[in-house]
Amino acid sequence: MRKQTENSDTASWRTEVLVCPQCGDRLEAGTGDRVFTCKRCETGYELGGDGLRELKANHVYLGWWLRNRPAGPAGADDERIVSLPFWRFELAAPQEKPSAEQQARVPAEVRRQISERSRFDLSTRRVYAYLPAFRTRNLGSAFEAAAAITDTQPEYELNAGARSNGATYGSREAAKLLDAAVVYQAGKSPGLALTGFCRRRPPELIGVPFEVEGGELVEGVSGTHLPLEEIDAALLDNRPD
Ligand SMILES: [Zn+2]
Repeated sequence: MRKQTENSDTASWRTEVLVCPQCGDRLEAGTGDRVFTCKRCETGYELGGDGLRELKANHVYLGWWLRNRPAGPAGADDERIVSLPFWRFELAAPQEKPSAEQQARVPAEVRRQISERSRFDLSTRRVYAYLPAFRTRNLGSAFEAAAAITDTQPEYELNAGARSNGATYGSREAAKLLDAAVVYQAGKSPGLALTGFCRRRPPELIGVPFEVEGGELVEGVSGTHLPLEEIDAALLDNRPD
């Protein structure tokens, strides 16, 4: 992919102006961000060593989210609602059945939950693994959020063009962190244990609405929550569309 190369005397990406290869509009994101979405044409891009790579970026449709929260609808302009970027990997059945050794790493109770929950049935529905695309002070919190949302498999209705501000993990980093989350949570999370057994398709970025409730950020549809103090305050400026 291309990048704008008129001031290419420096390797610093921070000072470089990135333009959308699709429509030519300027791409805007915060310092340290790895994913950019074009506000004009809604194409998503990831910044890698060789420039911009196009990717799928969507966000959870706010109207759907407000209707589907168990807590009931809130006002769409509610200032407590923020959009947090997540990587979402679609899972595919493995080429070969997991070995006895692989299966033995997952407790029998968790294996039972995988086989009994229809939401994990890869032959009849799309199943996804999620990982925060933003940093948390404590990585364990990110892994717990990954487990909570992967276990519940919300059937989000999506719109194009995720708000990508704060997406500081690139897709490769996210894939490695997802592996770590599988190891950390597979003893208790059926969704991440299943992820450990599956192949993954290239991930997409999705913006997920959360609500500030006391000292936490809560995603009401899946019940995912994160300690507010563990995330970069700049993420709280992300308003969902
Ligand atoms: Zn564009």
